[in-house]
Amino acid sequence: MYSNFTKFVKELYKTNEFIPLHEPRFIGNEKKYLNECIDSTFVSSVGRFVDLFEENIAKFTGAKHAIACVNGTAALHIALILSDVKANDEVITQPLTFIATANAISYTGAMPVFIDVDKDTLGLSPQKLEEFLSENTYLDDLGFCHNKKTKRIIKACIPMHTFGHPARIDKIKSICDRYNITLIEDAAESLGSYYKEQHTGTFGKFGTLSFNGNKTITTGGGGMILTNDDALAKRAKHLTTQAKVPHKWEYVHNYIGYNYRLPNINAALGLAQLEQLPIFIEKKRQLAEKYKIFFINTDIQFVTEPQNSKSNYWLNFILLKDKEERNNFLKFTNENGVMTRPVWELMNRLEMFKNCQVENIENSEWLADRVVNIPSSVIL
Ligand SMILES: *Cc1c(COP(=O)(O)O)cnc(C)c1O
Repeated sequence: MYSNFTKFVKELYKTNEFIPLHEPRFIGNEKKYLNECIDSTFVSSVGRFVDLFEENIAKFTGAKHAIACVNGTAALHIALILSDVKANDEVITQPLTFIATANAISYTGAMPVFIDVDKDTLGLSPQKLEEFLSENTYLDDLGFCHNKKTKRIIKACIPMHTFGHPARIDKIKSICDRYNITLIEDAAESLGSYYKEQHTGTFGKFGTLSFNGNKTITTGGGGMILTNDDALAKRAKHLTTQAKVPHKWEYVHNYIGYNYRLPNINAALGLAQLEQLPIFIEKKRQLAEKYKIFFINTDIQFVTEPQNSKSNYWLNFILLKDKEERNNFLKFTNENGVMTRPVWELMNRLEMFKNCQVENIENSEWLADRVVNIPSSVIL
């Protein structure tokens, strides 16, 4: 069975060389725009591509504003700061996520609280969120949501749209609204994914994207903050650009800002990549369809997009029978030229986060033993 799989992947990618999990494709205006940057000397913090990239990401996602950042982790950090998350606050997120989500929370001095995911979406479970909030929190006179156990304020909640599959974000949003918790969507993996025909990352007060080299489109390194709020968008731009007060020549800064702006050269690459995004998504969905058919008569489950959603199928993943089978599969495939990977170690098991509050996370634990990512680069 495992050798049928490696043979199948090699046929898909038409190669006998090592097949990586996800590599970028540069098939459009990338070189043209990069040359334009170099010829103009505007490779750094000033230039037309940053504005163009922001405008076009906003248009594509339907967000009112898009603010470019140096990477997705920085985008999350700024979204948290603008949600008024401070030291000794708490932020809810899922244990099954990439480290950047939990790290960004820690940069503010806040503590993550880990709530379970749903088995079919791998995103935060609205049911578990509701259970936790109704049993463990109270609203004070000012409307802040306090954790009964720690007395800290729960300021924000960051669900993540795992591997491109949308979480049940409308339910999560209505729960957060009721408990006065700011919703920030970590949409780093879900550019081009929709929940009920609305782009992921546009439901919350903020959404964040990543354009790292392994994501659906890449700027080398890069990220984006999405928001519909005019004032917050302005503050986001200000904070990511050293909080400089606009002036023709004076250097005056009115906050402790961050050097989180995206260089023009990265935005140039991003703009060219964004032009290819519809093709990439079409090809990724075709690849997912082929995997789905391949796995139908096997005892391995290929996980398709959840109900009510359209996934970008950024990283395809399967479920093995148990941890032992998972390990056998990982060993065989990686030794036979096909890169596969387990899901991230759960955040609450990591040294830095092992003292954080964690609720019943049986789904996350079940998934952590079984999920394996399989090659997902666009096949042209
Ligand atoms: C990629 C990713 C990020 C951001 O990563 P950067 O490398 O900083 O752009 C954040 N969260 C998740 C879930 C991711 O997969």
